[in-house]
Amino acid sequence: MEDGYNSNVEAFREAEYPMLQDAIYLDHAGTTLYAKSLMEKFTSDMISNLYGNPHSASASSQLTTNRIEDIRLKVLRCFNADPEEFDIIFVANATAGIKLVMECFRELEGGYNYGYHKDSHTSLVGVRESASSSRCLDDEDVEQWLSGASGLVGEGASSDISLFAYPAQSNMDGRRLPLSWSERVRANNSNGRVSYTLLDASAFVSTSALDLSDASTAPDFTVLSFYKIFGFPDLGALIVRKESGTILQRRKYFGGGTVDVVLCMREQWHAPKSQSFHDRLEDGTLAIHNILALNTALEVHRELYGSMEKIARHTSFLARKLFDGLSSLRHENGELVCVIHSSRSSTQHFSEFQGPVVAFNLKNSYGAWISNTEFERLASVRNFHIRSGGLCNPGGVAACLQLEPWEMRNNFSAGYRCGAETDIYAGKITGVIRASLGAMSTISDVDSFISFIREFYVETATQDVDEHPPTIPNPAGLFVESLTIYPIKSCGGFTIASNVDWEVRPEGLVWDREWCLVHQGTGQALSQKRHPLMALIRPSLDFRRGMLCIQFYDPKGNLPLQELAIPLSANPSFYTTGDGGKSSPSRVCGDAIVAQTYSKPEITAFFSNILGVPCTLARFPAGGSGFSTRHSKAHMQKHQRPKRHSSDEVHVPGAFAPPTPPDSDNENRKRPILLSNESPILAINKDSLDVLNDGIIRSGGKPASASVFRANIVLASSQLSNPQPYAEDHWSSLRIGQQNFQMLGSCRRCHMICVDQDTAEKNEEPFVTLAKTRRFESKIFFGSHMCHIPSKIATKESQYPTIRVGDIVRIGTTEET
Ligand SMILES: *Cc1c(COP(=O)(O)O)cnc(C)c1O
Repeated sequence: MEDGYNSNVEAFREAEYPMLQDAIYLDHAGTTLYAKSLMEKFTSDMISNLYGNPHSASASSQLTTNRIEDIRLKVLRCFNADPEEFDIIFVANATAGIKLVMECFRELEGGYNYGYHKDSHTSLVGVRESASSSRCLDDEDVEQWLSGASGLVGEGASSDISLFAYPAQSNMDGRRLPLSWSERVRANNSNGRVSYTLLDASAFVSTSALDLSDASTAPDFTVLSFYKIFGFPDLGALIVRKESGTILQRRKYFGGGTVDVVLCMREQWHAPKSQSFHDRLEDGTLAIHNILALNTALEVHRELYGSMEKIARHTSFLARKLFDGLSSLRHENGELVCVIHSSRSSTQHFSEFQGPVVAFNLKNSYGAWISNTEFERLASVRNFHIRSGGLCNPGGVAACLQLEPWEMRNNFSAGYRCGAETDIYAGKITGVIRASLGAMSTISDVDSFISFIREFYVETATQDVDEHPPTIPNPAGLFVESLTIYPIKSCGGFTIASNVDWEVRPEGLVWDREWCLVHQGTGQALSQKRHPLMALIRPSLDFRRGMLCIQFYDPKGNLPLQELAIPLSANPSFYTTGDGGKSSPSRVCGDAIVAQTYSKPEITAFFSNILGVPCTLARFPAGGSGFSTRHSKAHMQKHQRPKRHSSDEVHVPGAFAPPTPPDSDNENRKRPILLSNESPILAINKDSLDVLNDGIIRSGGKPASASVFRANIVLASSQLSNPQPYAEDHWSSLRIGQQNFQMLGSCRRCHMICVDQDTAEKNEEPFVTLAKTRRFESKIFFGSHMCHIPSKIATKESQYPTIRVGDIVRIGTTEET
């Protein structure tokens, strides 16, 4: 109950939003209070009562049965549904409710026609696969059908029974569809031909009251998920209008819970439960604890937030503020920053046609789309919980982004998948950004979200897109400051001692990223992005013992220092039974590979206990024949384009030959890599890190350690007076000691660089400052990919190419000497 918050509300009430009658006076402490009260009340109910499995005569069983019947009634009352007219069937979630309806219709003798609105969630769309004919309808199609001008599925109707499904609110853009459709569909029914309505209320009920007081106008079947209203429990419901519900009773399947008598052996007969409607459709034991928790959730939610009407007013007030804020943002050249897909026309009845959801996309000042994936990363660093992509709403997204079916198929063939990295194809963006507001949202949430977009996406000075890169800097004095390998992908680094010559191979520094951790269920390689604790798993190479030693450091000291040793020899017998292990398919950064997984219990337990997920170690040995190979994906980025006017070229003292643009043959050549993300070797330049840290310090942040970039080579300059930040963008090749390397392009970054490699804690920096200073076409870059160029002349040295700390670095081309 913050005064500041209340007075803010007052100010808005009086000025721009006279509609606002009352608001929810809760800040984020209120959200915590809600979660705490709910959990405490629920646990105390569980501790003080003994709830048995229903359907028996014991006191504990009867207690459960009675409580559940009371809760059924209470839930129906929440929707003003008369228990004489309606029944509620508890299901796992809204999707399960939809599937239950489908299961019943599917078994009708003559099949059924299915029409679904284009704004439907995927879960409604999928029903079409079991219908004898189906069609996706837009508003106009629905009007035509309701006016009798066309059939629900067009001409091809094959049955007299039809089902029409639509969302009460689109989960994509928050649009609210007419609830009056149910009544109109029913009015068109004649004796022979009957159409039923299935309303998906999942998105709608989370911030609005659904009124089923008039059974004659209500939908026949309504589905919803309670977790969307209360956060907990994970439970859904199918609310059935009993008069229409007899069609569901034709379902053939029966199971435990839905029958009174079943004969099996000589005679096959069963008597379905007859007492109440829901008995025949609730298969197996009910989710009793979830239903009991629902009761607690209803109580606590009401205590804290008041009525659903109040939540509706609160959220639509915030939504309008968000709409106004986002739509007013403009780049300095006047171009719009946000393309908003949700509708916001009349201010009077905002909440009638629009839920508290704003779906939008961002554009730069040249009118190009900003990648949603990149936006989502930055938003998550700033702690905004945003959803982006296709949002399980294929029709809605295709319509608002004007994506044609052939384009969707094309994008799919080009590698697009829901949640994929790339989301812009042929100049079109494939998903939207969705900001949703709920009872817990506050004015300051909305304000800080708008300022966040202003801070990162509103371009003030329009930059010259094609400006020439700075002249090639003087690289004299550049040397290798440190060398690091990461034997286990995404785990801690192993620093190479300064007096050691380290071998470089085509795949990278020897022993780099040869192992990884894989999830035992999915085979997916684990990454620090999801499991920051991996930073504290520190492998080291002990050549004397021939072992990879792995230690786990718990900075909080809760766990004792643990150690594991794995033989370095890729002896196949180690993987065979006995030691336990096998070749298994796995995925690393989207590539399918076959890795040798270790299944010895002490190995799997070591990693699984640390990370809290079932995982184990896997190996992808260098040059191993028979293993799938991976190739480098790194390439030169546009911001690195070399200068085109040769007259500008300055000869650089210290360079052993003038740089040339990377030739395309070389770029396309396949370069093998092990388990690194993109390329054989990653290098960073200390001068660039220094300017980055200056920026971070200026904005009051904590400077980043070089370790967060997980580079193999850190380059530094001995000429402190003449720093050359980001000079590496324009290098095409390097000579380190006696070895030649080709630069393969800048390294694209994600928020994994926010993980402190010493403590595994996540910070905002350096991602936030990089996003402001090193963003090109909405991607963020720091560091350079590179690979070793083997010498063409075989000599003793060239058969064992090495580099070491302290080696002098020169830039230039890689001509053989
Ligand atoms: C969330 C949602 C669903 C799916 O709900 P589940 O709980 O995942 O089954 C379906 N439709 C809409 C409109 C939704 O918002």
